[in-house]
Amino acid sequence: MLSLPGKVTIITGASSGIGRAAAKLFAAEGAKLVLCARRKGGLDDVVREITSEGGEAVAVAGDVKDEAVAKALVEVARDTFGGLDIAFNNAGTVGEMAPVPDISVAGWRETLDTNLTSAFLAAKHQIPAMLRQGGGSLIFTSTFVGHTVGFPNLGAYAASKAGLVGLVQVIAAEFGAKRIRANALLPGGTDTPMGREVINSPEIRSFVEGLHALKRLAEPDEIARSALFLASEASSFMTGAALLVDGGVSINKT
Ligand code: NAP
Repeated sequence: MLSLPGKVTIITGASSGIGRAAAKLFAAEGAKLVLCARRKGGLDDVVREITSEGGEAVAVAGDVKDEAVAKALVEVARDTFGGLDIAFNNAGTVGEMAPVPDISVAGWRETLDTNLTSAFLAAKHQIPAMLRQGGGSLIFTSTFVGHTVGFPNLGAYAASKAGLVGLVQVIAAEFGAKRIRANALLPGGTDTPMGREVINSPEIRSFVEGLHALKRLAEPDEIARSALFLASEASSFMTGAALLVDGGVSINKT
């Protein structure tokens, strides 16, 4: 039930961290992948790894802030693999980190555009393709930050990622009857290049690990497995949910 045989899937942020782990895992489960990130080199490496192991994947280099990229991803899915079943809209940025009064307007807009407007653009083009297919599963990578935990200096990031939870609820309500599901995935601290941008010293790492009930960060694979669950029929009765996969950071007081 966790397999994705022949399922045509878009994954953004697929060259690194959670998206890269998901690309490898989804391919191993039989999905046909359209992968996106800005830098083509890293993306091509992932495509090479997947195809050398017998999987199917193509790369589309581009910025998720750009509507033309959102449209191109769906067109490539249709032209290469015949449609679209699943989208893991995962690319994101931590953006400008500062107390709220010190965040620049440009930095705020850049973070909102990358993390939230990109999700709208993705859904705007992915939903009609899924309707043509008779249904689908949309997953958006949010975070516990701004959902269950306030974190200093991450105002733009928290606001953009909390917006995704609202967006999935509306998509779920609008298209549930048409067999389209939409869910948000809320990882805890994860050991990726972005994670290390925030957790940038041994002291901060030990502090952040300690916030989690499990007393460690997640590996990207652990988050990718939860994305696979939301993508697959194993989660067939889940929609509009904000799925915390956060190592207990939200409930931990120790
Ligand atoms: P990562 O390893 O740094 O990967 C980020 C990926 O997104 C890269 O492939 C990057 O490639 C791509 N990307 C960034 N901006 C993009 C843009 N404007 N257009 C297209 N692609 C873009 O980070 P990660 O930790 O796996 O993050 C994945 C998601 O998880 C993010 O949405 C993040 O907010 C979320 N998350 C992370 C953590 C954590 O602790 N790591 C916790 C909770 C949630 P290019 O730079 O080449 O574009």
